[in-house]
Amino acid sequence: MVVTRFAPSPTGHMHVGNLRTALHNWLWARHHGGRFLLRLDDTDLERSKEEYAAGIRADLAWLGLHPDSETKQSDRFALYEEHFAHLAAAGRVYPCYESAQELDLKRKIQLGRGLPPVYDRAALHLTDAEKAAFEAEGIKPHWRFLLDHDALIGWTDLIRGEQHFDPKLLSDPVIRRADGSWLYMLPSVIDDIDMGITHVVRGEDHVSNTATQIQMFTALGAQPPVFAHEALLVGTEGKLSKRLGSLGISTFREAGLEPVSLIALLARIGTSDPVIPVTDAAPLIETFDFARFGRAPARFDEQELETLNQKIVHLLDYDAVRNRLPTGMTEEAWITIRPNIEKVAQAADWWTVVTGPLTIPSVADEDRAFLKQAMESLADLTFDADIWRNWTGALKESSGRKGKALFLPLRRALTGADHGPDMSHLLPLIGRERALERLRAAQS
Ligand code: GLU
Repeated sequence: MVVTRFAPSPTGHMHVGNLRTALHNWLWARHHGGRFLLRLDDTDLERSKEEYAAGIRADLAWLGLHPDSETKQSDRFALYEEHFAHLAAAGRVYPCYESAQELDLKRKIQLGRGLPPVYDRAALHLTDAEKAAFEAEGIKPHWRFLLDHDALIGWTDLIRGEQHFDPKLLSDPVIRRADGSWLYMLPSVIDDIDMGITHVVRGEDHVSNTATQIQMFTALGAQPPVFAHEALLVGTEGKLSKRLGSLGISTFREAGLEPVSLIALLARIGTSDPVIPVTDAAPLIETFDFARFGRAPARFDEQELETLNQKIVHLLDYDAVRNRLPTGMTEEAWITIRPNIEKVAQAADWWTVVTGPLTIPSVADEDRAFLKQAMESLADLTFDADIWRNWTGALKESSGRKGKALFLPLRRALTGADHGPDMSHLLPLIGRERALERLRAAQS
């Protein structure tokens, strides 16, 4: 059973980059009939806020990415403590007393000598007396995980292929701060084991974390999950701009975009599969495959999103939108209006054109007599589904007008606009009485 998790820190609003990670976790789980978990990485109690957690839940719900369960790390400190004690007893974590300045200086010296800035493990060799002396000075230790230098690290990444790391070139990661608080690394591994996570899907900025976390899985007696590190998301100008990075998902909701548009775009950019307009996620779930992902950054283009959204709106069934349409707007009206809008909310504007009242722009003098003739002709005809064809056919004969000269004055008088939905569908919606009234008003 495939189990994935989306593990955001609730320290800010969700943006497209986070959403993409959430989506791929969800798609992978759904593709395999597995489970998708939401885990709030809120070990940073200062910066984590319930309002952000609520925002993440609301965004996921809007997008239809419903987690099968939700947990938060702040409920699980006892479990971390327990595993930490085991690792300490086994000598796989060790206390360090260097200040940030000291560490910084060490790094600078190493870099100055052309060496990789790897932590030198000085603290590993402290005697009990030296440690006691630090403690006596009131210096509390932070803790590092002891990498096994003899165990070469490797995994087959679902996106990046074979990955290899030499642990000697990595610093023993700090896993716990001097105030006892946790960095993300170890709790995440403990949770991934405890929750039976089979696949960790996240951004490639986590690749070096994965290298050290793989040794944590082993140290905790577990098999590491399968990893997929996706190339990062960039904007049209080639990097994840400040704007995109700060653009919350709610911005798209407020702009009236369909959630499925974001899903359709983010499921496919950066892959070899084309972005396609879909009205639900099913086709994306079915075809989702990490083998289709490239190593180049995925480009997120807001204009592409708008265009895709428009195509999707044109495909939406009445049932998918009916509770967002003005009261009284029928399926027939939706189908008529749908090709002329970019966002569902714009249906209301055209519905007003159907129901009125309308302000009709003043009519050119040469059209006045024609509109009178048109009104009389309309009054004489049977107002059925073919009314537009019959009416304009009759008018063509009687007035000698054709093309634009025939159609445009009618469209203007009936809708107040030069463009819009197909008149043969729109006129029956407007109805006989309103049409006659508008034609009369247009002549005055
Ligand atoms: N909380 C981590 C982050 O947001 C989770 C990374 C992961 O998926 O393991 O970066």
